[in-house]
Amino acid sequence: MLFVEALAFKEDEERESEVVTTTQEEEQAEEEEVLHCFNCGNDITSKRQRMTVQDAHEHTFMNPGGFVFHIGCFRDAPGCLPAGDYTEAATWFPGCAWNYSLCASCHMHLGWAYRSADGSSFYGLILDRLVSF
Ligand SMILES: [Zn+2]
Repeated sequence: MLFVEALAFKEDEERESEVVTTTQEEEQAEEEEVLHCFNCGNDITSKRQRMTVQDAHEHTFMNPGGFVFHIGCFRDAPGCLPAGDYTEAATWFPGCAWNYSLCASCHMHLGWAYRSADGSSFYGLILDRLVSF
């Protein structure tokens, strides 16, 4: 009886370690997942570039025109083309100036690039304009 219990315990342990391994592999694959422009498929950024700004990765904001945008913050977005001069007008991140980020391939508006006075920068990209496939 003791032997059977010990064996059952061992099997449980093995199953648990298998589950952990699979999860880690899946997480790694997701971290490397490329995010593309929803309009033309150009590579914009990747999930690995996700970062937290003002305590969250995702934010929902309304612009002065009443349009609501659900954005995610990314350290870098090599597939974006900057447009316009940096301005702090109606900025969603206090202390950060912004300009527009367009898809470098099709020029679709994908979000904004932010730059703070200390020189740090990040991208706020509209999440439903990025797709992974
Ligand atoms: Zn595009």
